[in-house]
Amino acid sequence: MTKDKKRGLIDRLNSGPVICAEGFLFEIEKRGYMSSGEFVPMVSLENPEALLNLHRDFQHAGSDIVQAFTYNGHREKMRVIGKEELLEPLNKAALRIAKDVAVSPTGEEQNLMAGNISNSNIWNQNDKKSQLEVEKMFREMVGWAVDEDADILIGETFYYAEEAYTALKVMKETGLPSVITIAPYGENIMRDGVSILDTCKELEQRGGDVVGMNCHRGPNTMLPYLKEIRKAIKCHVAGLPITYRTTDDHPTFFNLPDDNGCSCPSPHETTFPTALDPMQTNRYEIGQFAREAYSLGINYLGVCCGATPMLIRETAEAVGLKVPASKYRENMENHYMFGKNKRIPQHIKDYRTKA
Ligand SMILES: [Zn+2]
Repeated sequence: MTKDKKRGLIDRLNSGPVICAEGFLFEIEKRGYMSSGEFVPMVSLENPEALLNLHRDFQHAGSDIVQAFTYNGHREKMRVIGKEELLEPLNKAALRIAKDVAVSPTGEEQNLMAGNISNSNIWNQNDKKSQLEVEKMFREMVGWAVDEDADILIGETFYYAEEAYTALKVMKETGLPSVITIAPYGENIMRDGVSILDTCKELEQRGGDVVGMNCHRGPNTMLPYLKEIRKAIKCHVAGLPITYRTTDDHPTFFNLPDDNGCSCPSPHETTFPTALDPMQTNRYEIGQFAREAYSLGINYLGVCCGATPMLIRETAEAVGLKVPASKYRENMENHYMFGKNKRIPQHIKDYRTKA
Protein backbone atom coordinates (compact mmCIF):
# COMPACT_ATOMS: atom_id res chain seq x y z
CA MET A 1 0.00 0.00 0.00
CA THR A 2 1.53 3.33 -1.02
CA LYS A 3 0.69 6.70 0.38
CA ASP A 4 -1.28 7.77 -2.67
CA LYS A 5 -3.55 4.71 -2.57
CA LYS A 6 -6.24 4.39 -0.03
CA ARG A 7 -9.12 2.11 0.69
CA GLY A 8 -12.64 3.33 1.21
CA LEU A 9 -14.40 3.30 4.56
CA ILE A 10 -16.50 0.20 3.95
CA ASP A 11 -13.54 -1.79 2.62
CA ARG A 12 -11.67 -0.95 5.79
CA LEU A 13 -14.59 -1.84 8.03
CA ASN A 14 -15.09 -5.12 6.22
CA SER A 15 -11.54 -6.12 6.99
CA GLY A 16 -11.24 -4.93 10.59
CA PRO A 17 -11.50 -2.08 13.05
CA VAL A 18 -11.52 1.57 11.98
CA ILE A 19 -10.66 4.19 14.59
CA CYS A 20 -12.15 7.68 14.66
CA ALA A 21 -11.16 10.37 17.12
CA GLU A 22 -13.91 12.80 18.01
CA GLY A 23 -14.14 15.08 21.05
CA PHE A 24 -12.42 18.05 19.44
CA LEU A 25 -14.61 20.52 21.29
CA PHE A 26 -13.54 19.50 24.78
CA GLU A 27 -9.90 18.97 23.91
CA ILE A 28 -9.49 22.27 22.04
CA GLU A 29 -11.16 24.03 24.98
CA LYS A 30 -8.75 22.36 27.40
CA ARG A 31 -5.84 23.41 25.23
CA GLY A 32 -6.97 27.01 25.62
CA TYR A 33 -8.34 27.81 22.18
CA MET A 34 -12.07 27.87 22.77
CA SER A 35 -14.53 29.32 25.24
CA SER A 36 -16.35 26.66 27.24
CA GLY A 37 -20.13 26.87 27.20
CA GLU A 38 -20.19 29.02 24.05
CA PHE A 39 -18.29 26.29 22.19
CA VAL A 40 -17.74 27.70 18.72
CA PRO A 41 -14.88 26.17 16.71
CA MET A 42 -13.25 29.47 15.72
CA VAL A 43 -9.94 27.67 16.14
CA SER A 44 -9.75 26.79 12.44
CA LEU A 45 -9.54 30.51 11.65
CA GLU A 46 -7.93 31.97 14.74
CA ASN A 47 -5.39 29.28 15.69
CA PRO A 48 -5.19 26.87 12.78
CA GLU A 49 -1.89 25.41 13.99
CA ALA A 50 -3.53 24.34 17.27
CA LEU A 51 -6.19 22.42 15.37
CA LEU A 52 -3.63 20.93 13.01
CA ASN A 53 -1.58 19.77 15.98
CA LEU A 54 -4.54 18.06 17.60
CA HIS A 55 -5.37 16.26 14.35
CA ARG A 56 -1.75 15.18 14.09
CA ASP A 57 -1.75 13.95 17.69
CA PHE A 58 -4.89 11.89 17.09
CA GLN A 59 -3.41 10.55 13.85
CA HIS A 60 -0.22 9.56 15.65
CA ALA A 61 -2.39 7.79 18.22
CA GLY A 62 -4.13 5.75 15.54
CA SER A 63 -7.15 7.63 14.25
CA ASP A 64 -7.87 6.39 10.71
CA ILE A 65 -10.35 9.17 10.12
CA VAL A 66 -9.56 12.87 10.26
CA GLN A 67 -12.87 14.47 11.08
CA ALA A 68 -13.06 18.14 10.12
CA PHE A 69 -13.79 20.18 13.22
CA THR A 70 -16.99 21.89 12.15
CA TYR A 71 -19.05 20.72 15.12
CA ASN A 72 -21.22 23.72 16.11
CA GLY A 73 -19.77 25.56 13.13
CA HIS A 74 -23.21 25.95 11.60
CA ARG A 75 -25.17 29.01 10.54
CA GLU A 76 -27.37 29.21 13.62
CA LYS A 77 -24.46 29.11 16.07
CA MET A 78 -22.61 31.72 14.05
CA ARG A 79 -25.71 33.91 14.28
CA VAL A 80 -25.76 33.47 18.06
CA ILE A 81 -22.25 34.91 18.29
CA GLY A 82 -22.87 37.54 15.58
CA LYS A 83 -20.28 36.20 13.15
CA GLU A 84 -22.38 34.69 10.41
CA GLU A 85 -20.07 36.14 7.76
CA LEU A 86 -17.33 33.79 8.99
CA LEU A 87 -19.39 30.65 8.52
CA GLU A 88 -18.05 29.60 5.14
CA PRO A 89 -14.41 30.56 5.83
CA LEU A 90 -14.55 28.64 9.13
CA ASN A 91 -15.93 25.52 7.50
CA LYS A 92 -13.50 25.62 4.60
CA ALA A 93 -10.51 26.22 6.86
CA ALA A 94 -11.46 23.29 9.10
CA LEU A 95 -11.96 21.01 6.08
CA ARG A 96 -8.63 22.01 4.52
CA ILE A 97 -6.73 21.44 7.75
CA ALA A 98 -8.31 17.98 8.07
CA LYS A 99 -7.45 17.18 4.46
CA ASP A 100 -3.83 18.28 4.89
CA VAL A 101 -3.48 15.88 7.80
CA ALA A 102 -5.35 13.00 6.14
CA VAL A 103 -3.18 12.99 3.01
CA SER A 104 0.09 13.00 4.96
CA PRO A 105 -0.14 10.07 7.34
CA THR A 106 2.63 8.86 9.57
CA GLY A 107 1.76 5.28 8.62
CA GLU A 108 1.62 3.73 5.17
CA GLU A 109 -1.93 4.47 4.20
CA GLN A 110 -3.68 7.81 3.84
CA ASN A 111 -6.40 8.60 6.34
CA LEU A 112 -9.96 9.33 5.38
CA MET A 113 -11.06 12.96 5.65
CA ALA A 114 -14.57 13.37 6.96
CA GLY A 115 -16.93 16.30 6.57
CA ASN A 116 -19.10 16.75 9.62
CA ILE A 117 -22.62 17.88 10.50
CA SER A 118 -24.30 17.49 13.86
CA ASN A 119 -27.14 18.43 16.19
CA SER A 120 -28.39 21.92 15.30
CA ASN A 121 -30.11 22.57 18.64
CA ILE A 122 -32.90 24.46 16.88
CA TRP A 123 -34.74 21.40 15.55
CA ASN A 124 -38.35 21.51 16.74
CA GLN A 125 -40.51 18.49 16.08
CA ASN A 126 -43.63 20.69 15.91
CA ASP A 127 -42.24 23.36 13.64
CA LYS A 128 -41.71 22.56 10.00
CA LYS A 129 -40.00 25.91 9.47
CA SER A 130 -37.23 25.04 11.93
CA GLN A 131 -36.80 21.71 10.21
CA LEU A 132 -36.38 23.29 6.80
CA GLU A 133 -33.90 25.74 8.28
CA VAL A 134 -31.86 22.85 9.70
CA GLU A 135 -31.94 21.00 6.39
CA LYS A 136 -30.60 24.12 4.66
CA MET A 137 -27.79 24.39 7.22
CA PHE A 138 -26.86 20.76 6.68
CA ARG A 139 -26.92 21.14 2.91
CA GLU A 140 -24.56 24.09 2.83
CA MET A 141 -22.06 22.40 5.17
CA VAL A 142 -22.17 19.13 3.27
CA GLY A 143 -21.68 21.12 0.06
CA TRP A 144 -18.49 22.66 1.41
CA ALA A 145 -17.26 19.26 2.54
CA VAL A 146 -17.76 17.92 -0.98
CA ASP A 147 -16.02 21.00 -2.46
CA GLU A 148 -13.05 20.33 -0.20
CA ASP A 149 -12.88 16.71 -1.28
CA ALA A 150 -14.14 14.86 1.78
CA ASP A 151 -13.84 11.06 1.55
CA ILE A 152 -16.77 10.39 3.86
CA LEU A 153 -19.43 12.30 5.79
CA ILE A 154 -20.23 12.00 9.47
CA GLY A 155 -23.52 13.14 10.99
CA GLU A 156 -23.34 12.91 14.77
CA THR A 157 -24.77 13.67 18.19
CA PHE A 158 -28.41 13.73 17.10
CA TYR A 159 -31.02 13.51 19.82
CA TYR A 160 -34.07 13.92 17.55
CA ALA A 161 -34.68 10.91 15.31
CA GLU A 162 -36.13 13.05 12.53
CA GLU A 163 -33.17 15.40 12.61
CA ALA A 164 -30.86 12.41 12.17
CA TYR A 165 -32.98 11.18 9.24
CA THR A 166 -32.74 14.64 7.67
CA ALA A 167 -28.96 14.72 8.13
CA LEU A 168 -28.68 11.30 6.52
CA LYS A 169 -30.88 12.34 3.60
CA VAL A 170 -28.68 15.36 2.90
CA MET A 171 -25.46 13.34 3.26
CA LYS A 172 -26.73 10.61 0.95
CA GLU A 173 -27.42 13.11 -1.84
CA THR A 174 -23.64 13.35 -2.27
CA GLY A 175 -23.07 9.64 -2.86
CA LEU A 176 -20.30 9.62 -0.23
CA PRO A 177 -20.22 6.94 2.50
CA SER A 178 -22.27 8.19 5.44
CA VAL A 179 -21.73 7.58 9.13
CA ILE A 180 -24.67 8.55 11.31
CA THR A 181 -24.60 8.37 15.10
CA ILE A 182 -27.18 9.34 17.68
CA ALA A 183 -26.79 10.68 21.21
CA PRO A 184 -29.99 10.22 23.22
CA TYR A 185 -30.29 12.10 26.50
CA GLY A 186 -30.87 10.63 29.95
CA GLU A 187 -34.49 9.65 29.27
CA ASN A 188 -33.05 6.92 27.04
CA ILE A 189 -35.32 7.81 24.15
CA MET A 190 -35.02 10.25 21.27
CA ARG A 191 -36.62 13.59 22.03
CA ASP A 192 -39.32 13.01 19.41
CA GLY A 193 -40.33 9.81 21.18
CA VAL A 194 -38.66 7.24 18.92
CA SER A 195 -36.73 4.49 20.71
CA ILE A 196 -32.97 4.27 20.33
CA LEU A 197 -33.25 0.92 18.57
CA ASP A 198 -36.00 2.00 16.19
CA THR A 199 -34.04 5.11 15.26
CA CYS A 200 -31.03 3.01 14.33
CA LYS A 201 -33.14 0.51 12.38
CA GLU A 202 -34.71 3.37 10.47
CA LEU A 203 -31.31 4.94 9.75
CA GLU A 204 -30.17 1.66 8.26
CA GLN A 205 -33.36 1.40 6.19
CA ARG A 206 -32.73 4.90 4.90
CA GLY A 207 -29.27 3.95 3.70
CA GLY A 208 -26.84 4.77 6.49
CA ASP A 209 -23.57 2.97 5.78
CA VAL A 210 -22.51 3.06 9.42
CA VAL A 211 -25.09 3.57 12.18
CA GLY A 212 -24.53 3.86 15.91
CA MET A 213 -24.02 6.09 18.91
CA ASN A 214 -21.61 8.81 19.94
CA CYS A 215 -21.23 11.32 22.77
CA HIS A 216 -23.34 12.05 25.89
CA ARG A 217 -22.79 8.55 27.34
CA GLY A 218 -19.80 6.86 28.84
CA PRO A 219 -18.98 3.20 28.21
CA ASN A 220 -21.32 1.95 30.97
CA THR A 221 -24.49 3.49 29.56
CA MET A 222 -23.66 3.20 25.87
CA LEU A 223 -22.55 -0.41 25.54
CA PRO A 224 -25.89 -2.01 26.54
CA TYR A 225 -27.60 -0.14 23.68
CA LEU A 226 -24.82 -0.92 21.23
CA LYS A 227 -25.34 -4.62 21.96
CA GLU A 228 -28.99 -4.31 20.98
CA ILE A 229 -28.22 -2.21 17.93
CA ARG A 230 -25.60 -4.69 16.72
CA LYS A 231 -28.17 -7.49 16.94
CA ALA A 232 -30.91 -5.51 15.21
CA ILE A 233 -29.15 -4.16 12.13
CA LYS A 234 -26.88 -5.54 9.43
CA CYS A 235 -24.77 -2.55 8.42
CA HIS A 236 -21.60 -1.53 10.25
CA VAL A 237 -22.12 -0.13 13.74
CA ALA A 238 -20.29 2.76 15.40
CA GLY A 239 -19.58 3.32 19.10
CA LEU A 240 -17.86 6.47 20.37
CA PRO A 241 -18.50 7.05 24.08
CA ILE A 242 -17.49 10.01 26.20
CA THR A 243 -14.79 9.35 28.77
CA TYR A 244 -16.85 9.79 31.93
CA ARG A 245 -18.33 7.27 34.34
CA THR A 246 -22.01 7.64 33.56
CA THR A 247 -24.45 5.47 35.50
CA ASP A 248 -27.99 4.09 35.22
CA ASP A 249 -29.13 6.97 37.45
CA HIS A 250 -27.23 9.50 35.37
CA PRO A 251 -26.89 8.00 31.89
CA THR A 252 -25.32 11.13 30.33
CA PHE A 253 -22.72 13.66 31.41
CA PHE A 254 -25.18 16.54 31.57
CA ASN A 255 -26.33 15.81 35.11
CA LEU A 256 -23.45 13.74 36.40
CA PRO A 257 -22.95 14.54 40.11
CA ASP A 258 -19.57 14.85 41.76
CA ASP A 259 -20.09 13.00 45.01
CA ASN A 260 -16.46 12.21 45.58
CA GLY A 261 -15.52 14.93 48.04
CA CYS A 262 -15.65 17.94 45.74
CA SER A 263 -14.62 20.97 47.83
CA CYS A 264 -15.18 23.67 45.21
CA PRO A 265 -18.14 23.00 42.92
CA SER A 266 -18.49 24.64 39.53
CA PRO A 267 -20.11 28.09 39.67
CA HIS A 268 -23.02 26.93 37.53
CA GLU A 269 -25.60 24.27 38.28
CA THR A 270 -23.83 21.23 36.83
CA THR A 271 -20.44 19.60 36.69
CA PHE A 272 -20.95 19.70 32.90
CA PRO A 273 -18.94 20.86 31.10
CA THR A 274 -16.14 22.34 33.18
CA ALA A 275 -15.96 20.21 36.34
CA LEU A 276 -16.32 16.69 35.02
CA ASP A 277 -12.67 15.82 35.59
CA PRO A 278 -13.09 13.67 38.72
CA MET A 279 -15.57 11.44 36.90
CA GLN A 280 -13.15 10.56 34.11
CA THR A 281 -12.82 6.97 33.03
CA ASN A 282 -9.30 5.67 33.05
CA ARG A 283 -7.59 4.34 29.94
CA TYR A 284 -8.26 0.72 30.85
CA GLU A 285 -12.00 1.33 31.00
CA ILE A 286 -11.87 2.86 27.52
CA GLY A 287 -9.78 -0.06 26.30
CA GLN A 288 -12.23 -2.51 27.82
CA PHE A 289 -15.13 -0.78 26.09
CA ALA A 290 -13.38 -0.99 22.73
CA ARG A 291 -12.50 -4.65 23.23
CA GLU A 292 -16.03 -5.61 24.21
CA ALA A 293 -17.63 -3.60 21.43
CA TYR A 294 -15.25 -5.07 18.85
CA SER A 295 -15.94 -8.60 20.08
CA LEU A 296 -19.63 -7.95 19.43
CA GLY A 297 -18.85 -7.06 15.82
CA ILE A 298 -18.72 -3.29 16.17
CA ASN A 299 -15.86 -2.21 13.92
CA TYR A 300 -16.17 1.58 13.89
CA LEU A 301 -14.72 2.65 17.22
CA GLY A 302 -13.58 5.87 18.78
CA VAL A 303 -13.91 8.27 21.64
CA CYS A 304 -15.97 11.45 21.86
CA CYS A 305 -15.88 14.21 24.51
CA GLY A 306 -12.94 13.69 26.84
CA ALA A 307 -10.89 12.05 24.09
CA THR A 308 -7.16 12.48 24.30
CA PRO A 309 -4.52 10.96 22.02
CA MET A 310 -3.69 8.50 24.82
CA LEU A 311 -7.27 7.20 24.83
CA ILE A 312 -7.32 6.89 21.05
CA ARG A 313 -4.15 4.81 21.24
CA GLU A 314 -5.77 2.70 23.97
CA THR A 315 -8.80 2.12 21.75
CA ALA A 316 -6.65 1.12 18.78
CA GLU A 317 -4.44 -1.21 20.81
CA ALA A 318 -7.43 -2.81 22.55
CA VAL A 319 -8.58 -4.12 19.17
CA GLY A 320 -5.17 -5.37 18.18
CA LEU A 321 -3.78 -2.46 16.18
CA LYS A 322 -0.26 -1.17 16.40
CA VAL A 323 -0.08 2.58 15.84
CA PRO A 324 2.79 5.09 15.71
CA ALA A 325 2.16 6.08 19.36
CA SER A 326 2.43 2.41 20.41
CA LYS A 327 6.16 3.10 20.64
CA TYR A 328 5.41 5.10 23.79
CA ARG A 329 2.84 2.89 25.47
CA GLU A 330 3.27 2.33 29.18
CA ASN A 331 6.32 0.54 30.43
CA MET A 332 6.02 0.21 34.18
CA GLU A 333 8.88 -2.29 34.19
CA ASN A 334 11.36 0.58 34.31
CA HIS A 335 9.54 2.78 36.81
CA TYR A 336 11.90 3.91 39.56
CA MET A 337 9.74 2.45 42.34
CA PHE A 338 7.04 0.22 40.87
CA GLY A 339 9.22 -1.35 38.18
CA LYS A 340 10.69 -4.85 38.32
CA ASN A 341 13.89 -3.99 36.44
CA LYS A 342 16.89 -5.56 38.18
CA ARG A 343 18.77 -2.26 38.34
CA ILE A 344 16.12 -0.64 40.52
CA PRO A 345 17.42 -0.67 44.11
CA GLN A 346 15.58 -3.02 46.42
CA HIS A 347 15.17 -0.42 49.21
CA ILE A 348 13.27 1.79 46.75
CA LYS A 349 11.10 -1.10 45.56
CA ASP A 350 10.38 -2.09 49.16
CA TYR A 351 9.06 1.37 50.00
CA ARG A 352 6.32 1.24 47.32
CA THR A 353 3.37 0.50 49.60
CA LYS A 354 4.23 3.50 51.81
CA ALA A 355 4.89 5.97 49.01
ZN1 LIG B 1 -18.93 14.35 22.41
